[in-house]
Amino acid sequence: NFSSLPEKELNDSAIAFGQPKVKLLVGGEFIDSKTSDWVDVVNPATQEIVSRLPLTTPSEFDAAVDSAKAAFPKWRDTPVTTRQRVMLKLQELIRRDMDKLALNVTTEQGKTLGDARGDVFRGLEVVEFACGAATLQMGEFVENVSTGIDTYSIRQPLGICAGICPFNFPAMIPLWMFPVAVTCGNTFVLKPSEKDPGASLMLAELAAEAGLPPGVLNIVHGTNDVVNRICDHPDIKAVSFVGSDKAGMHIYSRAAATGKRVQCNMGAKNHAVIMPDASPEATMNALTGAAFGAAGQRCMAISTAVFVGDSKPWEEGLKQRAMKLKIGCGTEPGADLGPVISKQILAVQAKERICSLVESGLKDGARVVLDGRNVEVPGFTSGNFVGPTILADVRPDMDCYKEEIFGPVLLCLKAETLEEAIEIVNSNKYGNGTAIFTTSGPAARKFQHEIDVGQVGINVPIPVPLPFFSFTGSRGSFAGDLNFYGKAGVHFFTHMKTVTTQWKDSPGGVTMAFPTSQKV
Ligand code: NAD
Repeated sequence: NFSSLPEKELNDSAIAFGQPKVKLLVGGEFIDSKTSDWVDVVNPATQEIVSRLPLTTPSEFDAAVDSAKAAFPKWRDTPVTTRQRVMLKLQELIRRDMDKLALNVTTEQGKTLGDARGDVFRGLEVVEFACGAATLQMGEFVENVSTGIDTYSIRQPLGICAGICPFNFPAMIPLWMFPVAVTCGNTFVLKPSEKDPGASLMLAELAAEAGLPPGVLNIVHGTNDVVNRICDHPDIKAVSFVGSDKAGMHIYSRAAATGKRVQCNMGAKNHAVIMPDASPEATMNALTGAAFGAAGQRCMAISTAVFVGDSKPWEEGLKQRAMKLKIGCGTEPGADLGPVISKQILAVQAKERICSLVESGLKDGARVVLDGRNVEVPGFTSGNFVGPTILADVRPDMDCYKEEIFGPVLLCLKAETLEEAIEIVNSNKYGNGTAIFTTSGPAARKFQHEIDVGQVGINVPIPVPLPFFSFTGSRGSFAGDLNFYGKAGVHFFTHMKTVTTQWKDSPGGVTMAFPTSQKV
């Protein structure tokens, strides 16, 4: 049911009076919403209310789209070199404010400060990429397609584009979206996650400081209703979404129904296949970081390990490493993983969901190697902490395997052969990322060739491509046909116009037959 947010969540805001209000950005002005419906932005390590987020009213939403519409003609006609220079300045300002941005990410999302800096940095790299967008916008030219006739193609911006963001990368994912869109000449309406909107606002302030004109970037807040307005608004031409597959498939079909271009990056279950010949130390270190870093709340986290051959020595090695990790508030020195985000859109606590999927795995016959469900963090007793958890003897028919857990939980499966491991990975509905750990070239080559997953690591646990490539999740993890950033990202935010020209100095006669380049 996608109709509306549960009542309880809306009323939660009553306790938050006196907290700062999260602003809307409309026509270059950071303004307070006039809505009477607010939700709380909560620090997941402490449960303190950081700010109150407005559920943007319909008229405020329309004003944001109108301001993007009004800004479009002038921005489209601004030289691409000028648009790139705004990005050049923006990347400098993000570097200047890296620590402030990271602190905001940690406060609202919970990840450790070091990890939060990584969040900002991976977004910054997309801004750097956008500085060279002109080259990728280049068209093509064929002279003399027929006598005296030339044809060329040009890439033009679409108009108003919109972005809908998840909670887990509050800086990186908005930066996957608007820098590429606006450098291509579009204007933008951004809807950050309602759980951690702060980084988006800070980035928008920096974009304004960098010279992005008023109205080119607008920010609205809210949940299902504002998302549906984005899908339905006739003036919005394209929607970028990152989040769960449930919301993503809804948005994909609803926005496409009004003729929009849509790209949806969705849920994941990323498998690592570990061959018996894999280098033990390097592999176990890589798996530990990829499974438990960011408390498992990365769309490219390794949440499933498939051991080819004997799994016991690997399980023990992983357990030893995981037990050494320090769980704590993200701002605490030495913390390795912070809390999980608290509230889910469907009013289920993230921690509750993670723990119940672990419980269901145990009921279904999985064996616990490490149980982090009852972890206690001194000084932060009300935080949503879950410690590293490892379940072994997991089978593909278990719910804990079928569902995305999105927490610091590593599931261990066994396979007799590489073929069987590949079959397991290819039978899973998701196709975001995968990795093989091996010292065998032939095994790696076979895996790369036969695996049906969009992003493959060979001895690389989280193979998120840098922005000159694209983020190429596949199958159940992606809907659309043009991926985020890279060439595909530029193509998503531009459409092709093909021009055929002829310059004749004599008029010629009337031709009634369909024009062809030779006599037929
Ligand atoms: P989410 O789907 O709950 O929320 C994402 C956005 O969609 C938010 O802005 C939210 O307001 C909106 N939304 C949520 N439910 C909606 C509904 N029913 N109708 C309309 N709008 C709705 O996702 P989340 O919990 O914020 O993020 C975690 C999910 O995102 C995980 O599934 C993770 O795998 C996925 N993710 C994927 C990628 C990727 O690149 N594939 C990257 C990051 C996160």
